[in-house]
Amino acid sequence: MIETQPQVKSESIFDKMSNLEHEQLVFCRDEATGLKAIVGIHNTVLGPSMGGTRMWNYASDEEAIEDVLRLSRGMTFKSALAGLNIGGGKAVIIGDARKIKSEALMRRFGKFINSLNGKYYTAEDMNITMRDIEYMSMETPYVVGKPQYMGGSGDPSPMTAYGVYMGMKAGAKKAYGSDSLEGKNILVQGAGQVGKYLVDHLTKENASVFVADIFEDKIKAITDKHGEVSVVDPNSVFQMEMDIYAPCAMGATLNDQSIPELKCDVVAGAANNQLASEEKHSAMLSDHGIIYCPDFLINSGGIANVYHEYLGNYNKDRVVASTEHIYEVCMNVLNHSEENKIGSHEAALELALQRIDQVGKVKLGV
Ligand code: NAD
Repeated sequence: MIETQPQVKSESIFDKMSNLEHEQLVFCRDEATGLKAIVGIHNTVLGPSMGGTRMWNYASDEEAIEDVLRLSRGMTFKSALAGLNIGGGKAVIIGDARKIKSEALMRRFGKFINSLNGKYYTAEDMNITMRDIEYMSMETPYVVGKPQYMGGSGDPSPMTAYGVYMGMKAGAKKAYGSDSLEGKNILVQGAGQVGKYLVDHLTKENASVFVADIFEDKIKAITDKHGEVSVVDPNSVFQMEMDIYAPCAMGATLNDQSIPELKCDVVAGAANNQLASEEKHSAMLSDHGIIYCPDFLINSGGIANVYHEYLGNYNKDRVVASTEHIYEVCMNVLNHSEENKIGSHEAALELALQRIDQVGKVKLGV
């Protein structure tokens, strides 16, 4: 008898879109420049979708689709919770940036963005430079995060760091009854764009700051500026006793292995997708008595920055005030999590969905 493999029906693109509740997925292709890009528009209830373009050499088209779906959905919740009137979107360009990126490719991509008539605003993300932002802007007005010399809001990292600092203070208030970070042992993992500005805020408040990075020059830049900062081996992060852990490098550092080892009271950092598995590891942190300040909430200073550029008449004081609001929202999320005995990640998602639902009805007049 011939054995046959059971027929597993693969998920169609529409299945994937409906699983994550996407509105639109736009495929863009151009033979001459080698452009292959996908724009994910997740939700436009609160306003046009907004989120950066990432260029990555994906192993397959399927991987690129998964990434754009996941990232654009994340932007919906991030902006909704931050109180911004925009929806979630993201774009990916498939290919090795060092090999295929060109002026023509970026401008062709800009033309595709333009054809969406403002339903999606793009910005920079991995492997997209300010020069690329300029190229896209030559073909479409639907680009934000432009350099200051083009009238844009410039590098969003300082605002992202300020928001993380605000969220961290809310986490400290919940854990210790006071939001002062003075004397707290805080480990910043990743001394990059966000990490370095975060260290500025923490040292100013006389926290006891530790940094870990895989590159010597990043560490040196920080210790040259702040002689009081201590250095930790990047491989020993989870062996360290600390009060607050601030992941500001890569995602998925909160997982089955790290959480049982983690010796801290609060996690508050900039890195995207810190939880390897959203539900499981958010609950696991609660079970270990660790207060988790949701990443997508406290790293929203950067999107607030470009949102204010999109509104026009960019005013830094206004963005600072909007970013300071992260403190209050983070307190609400942590209280909602405690009262409803759910992880803080779920609590944040619930509050984001609540705002989309309530404001959406106001907009529709129902
Ligand atoms: P970055 O690339 O400038 O900095 C990341 C730093 O982490 C680098 O210095 C790198 O050497 C270090 N690093 C990498 N692997 C490490 C490891 N194993 N241990 C210790 N350090 C390691 O990036 P960034 O702009 O500072 O962003 C940091 C994180 O915050 C990213 O996850 C990013 O997606 C997220 N984020 C950034 C912004 C922003 O405005 N820049 C906004 C929202 C979210």
